[in-house]
Amino acid sequence: MKWIDLRSDTVTQPTPEMRKAMSEAVVGDDVYSDDPTVNELERLAAEMLGKEAALFVPSGTFGNQLALLTHTLRGDEVIVPSSNHIFVHEVGAASVISGVQLRIIESDDGMPALERIENAIRDDDLHSPRTSLISLETAHSSGRVLPVSYLESVRALADSNGLLIHLDGARIFNAAVALGISVADIARSADSVMFCLSKGLSAPVGSMLVGDEEFIKRARKGRKLMGGAMRQAGVIAAAGIVALKTMVERLGEDHENAKYFASALDQIPEISVFKERLDINMVFFRLEEIPGDYVVEHLERNRIKINPPDRGLYRLVTNKDVSREELEATANIVENAVRSWKSSH
Ligand SMILES: *Cc1c(COP(=O)(O)O)cnc(C)c1O
Repeated sequence: MKWIDLRSDTVTQPTPEMRKAMSEAVVGDDVYSDDPTVNELERLAAEMLGKEAALFVPSGTFGNQLALLTHTLRGDEVIVPSSNHIFVHEVGAASVISGVQLRIIESDDGMPALERIENAIRDDDLHSPRTSLISLETAHSSGRVLPVSYLESVRALADSNGLLIHLDGARIFNAAVALGISVADIARSADSVMFCLSKGLSAPVGSMLVGDEEFIKRARKGRKLMGGAMRQAGVIAAAGIVALKTMVERLGEDHENAKYFASALDQIPEISVFKERLDINMVFFRLEEIPGDYVVEHLERNRIKINPPDRGLYRLVTNKDVSREELEATANIVENAVRSWKSSH
């Protein structure tokens, strides 16, 4: 029997069309820029994002850290909201790889007020690090999408202070589908964007870093330094092309399913769903009366995988491999878990 896996959208299996494209891909040595499939993926990614150039990288973390390495000098300061992936989930890589200091602005939704960003920009002073970059994230891992107007006002602030902007757009396609606009409309405010092929877009491996020609040329060298230059990478890039050509509009289904699942869970009195965080494919809820281990194990016995809660807060992620019927079944099993715990305590 199939497992229902709601831990993340990274768990999605490649589609049959992706597997076919992978087996038939024309490949070459990408370190010599000789892989036509990688070149095609990079061309397509740049075009969709409205940027001059793109670079295929092994993972989202790699793409973000390569952006920091390429934009900054050792000892620079990078302004980052406290809940962003670059600060929370990248193993402190910014200090190890680029040798930069992250200037953290407390923010649960990745949208700190403009004046708080402005106040964090350093003066040109003998004692201070140089602020060189602002890094933002959309869709944000809180399940919310940053409004384009917010990105535009940060852009204006960056311009008036001579700063660059990197956008962690791991789920930028979810953001664009949620807003009903093109990814280029979002990417416009940033100097560089990283996005993932391997999340809701369902490719098995890979992310893209996009920006202007000169930036990507330098990033290509940084990718080599970081050990991320791959040889016949067209085998995996082929799936990325299929992802960009066939899987973008489908993301809307994940968003609809998340709203459906949220309302089903919200029927359970012990659960409080975060309804203001339902922009994309993530459902956040609190269930504090019952130990997290108990819920996780009860679901696992019913062939459902979820991540343990983070201090009582659960995050479940809808994806292409979980149907609406399976979400309905999952909500029922969550309710069973609550009932059975209560009847024995
Ligand atoms: C997943 C994710 C990344 C990193 O991607 P990996 O491929 O897992 O390294 C970066 N930023 C955000 C917001 C993400 O959700």
